[in-house]
Amino acid sequence: MTESPTQTATAPATTMQLEFLTDDDETVRICVDYWRQAENGRFALTVREIAHLYGIRRDAISTLVETYSFVWQDDICCGRCKNPYRFSTRTQYQNRRWFQDRICLSCQEAEHREIVNRKKTIISEMRRSAEGNKPSLENLDLITKIYLLATTQTLGNENLTTIESLNDYSILKLSPDPDYDKTILRHLIQQNLLLISLDTHIEAVQLSEDGQFAIEIGESKFNLALHPDQVIALMNEIYNAETASEIIQVPEFAELCHEAQLNECLAFLKLALGKHRLYLSPGKKTRQVLTQCLEHFSVAQIYCLIWRAAKDAAAYSLRPGIGRRHAANSVVGNISRYMETALANGWDIKAFRRDYDLPQSSLSRILFNVVLGTDDGGFKYALHELLDGDRRMSTSL
Ligand SMILES: [Zn+2]
Repeated sequence: MTESPTQTATAPATTMQLEFLTDDDETVRICVDYWRQAENGRFALTVREIAHLYGIRRDAISTLVETYSFVWQDDICCGRCKNPYRFSTRTQYQNRRWFQDRICLSCQEAEHREIVNRKKTIISEMRRSAEGNKPSLENLDLITKIYLLATTQTLGNENLTTIESLNDYSILKLSPDPDYDKTILRHLIQQNLLLISLDTHIEAVQLSEDGQFAIEIGESKFNLALHPDQVIALMNEIYNAETASEIIQVPEFAELCHEAQLNECLAFLKLALGKHRLYLSPGKKTRQVLTQCLEHFSVAQIYCLIWRAAKDAAAYSLRPGIGRRHAANSVVGNISRYMETALANGWDIKAFRRDYDLPQSSLSRILFNVVLGTDDGGFKYALHELLDGDRRMSTSL
């Protein structure tokens, strides 16, 4: 049945407008009786009375009325398109105030379509901009090359053309810490090496009210801007024993190793606190204390310092008047104190093993296994031990 009103009537004493979707006289009469209101605004007849009057079952009356008529009021309309809401049952009509100025379904759908189109445009414009600025393999710095290789190994497909979204993948770890994973991808996007995929789900694009937008990197898929042959050339360069000795001499290499170790510590810090239901968003202070620790100890030993410091923070949280946030923040001071005491007393800090939940990442394997030629040396040894060469030779034997 198409909605083609054939007759219109105005019920008395209200502004209710009644319309019919049929020209059958008896159906129209039933609808008029159904919607008729008395002086006091109540419906004049009950459905039972109407059913009795026409010799039809009550449920058939309701179906007829709902199918062949509707009512509306010009003050109960959509807040956007101003079209009046249509009511097909008495219950809907009695609750009409609830609809006042609400956005109607068709306006909601139009708004949704507009948002989807805007997000698709953002994705395609981001991609077009990056495609027009592809870097050449020769101009890439060492950090970018290693980030790209780690990303390709972890999230890349067999054909070396696409990068799956971080949130879809959990078999291999890109870097030691999820926040660092995003830093790596962000770096590669800024270098125009990752082109956002047109298959990226539009939910990955977040629009803000001021017209700005943000991309949820973990939800995004990418295509590699380099040709697969170029990616293979890059792998050959990093996996070559002769170039490895040159790579180690580049200052950025030591920086990258340090960053990887620091993130091993940050990831374990979050894990250790989480086991005590304490949460911390590490900032500059935490990074600085852990950097000091890394000058003296291996990541395996710093795990021990972190574990004890988190335990102390948990005990501290149980004291009266101490909030969990305050207790979590105390962990950094605890680590610092343990480090100073250990150094002052020449303690030999116990080395922990890798936690089952924090396996070695792809980035760490490239840095410490492939280039430095150790077996997870980035975990077992302090960086200065690895970079001076002796430890490398002894551990790779
Ligand atoms: Zn509307």
